[in-house]
Amino acid sequence: MANFRTHLTVAAAGALSATALVMQTVPISQMQALLLFLLALHAGLLPDVDSDHSIPARILFTILSFATAIAVIFHYYTSLNLLPLLVSSLLAALFVRLVLLPLFAATTEHRGLFHSVPMALLFGIGSLFAGHYLLGWQVSFAWLAAAFVTGGYLLHLLLDELYSVNFIGASIKTSFGTALTLFSSQSWRSYMLLYAAVGYGLWIAPLPQQFTQ
Ligand SMILES: [Zn+2]
Repeated sequence: MANFRTHLTVAAAGALSATALVMQTVPISQMQALLLFLLALHAGLLPDVDSDHSIPARILFTILSFATAIAVIFHYYTSLNLLPLLVSSLLAALFVRLVLLPLFAATTEHRGLFHSVPMALLFGIGSLFAGHYLLGWQVSFAWLAAAFVTGGYLLHLLLDELYSVNFIGASIKTSFGTALTLFSSQSWRSYMLLYAAVGYGLWIAPLPQQFTQ
């Protein structure tokens, strides 16, 4: 399994090349190019959130707890006084950090569902929907963003697989085949659910159109 730094380096190199390629072929702005680069970079680190104490997991849950605290403030700032408002946002943040994070850590297995091809597709589709419907991105750009997320994610899985092959001795470690997983009969229910979500997402997704700026 590749470590955080290797993943970061490879994800950055991959994201940069893909962004440069897209900039030359599709009319996107520099801001959009930067966004695509960042999406692919983060997607290349994302699969390791299932590793309980990994850097991505800690960063993600720190961001989530801050986001929750901000959401509480935005939602209640007119109805609560300052002190109760601050206390409830703090409690909400602590809830994410002390309850949800351990729960997530306990229910996910490292290199389980998060290290699978359908999960890469699902994150891509998720960003397509979030980008188009929440952030108002043009459909074609949202599709491009989805491709960058899925691509970055798959690059991570590929790297994990490559690291489980010892090229010098041409031997294969036992972790081989646990990253780029298409299906696992042990957790077939979860996989069926994942594929169903991917299929449904693709079915209702807006079709990509001609790229216009
Ligand atoms: Zn990994």
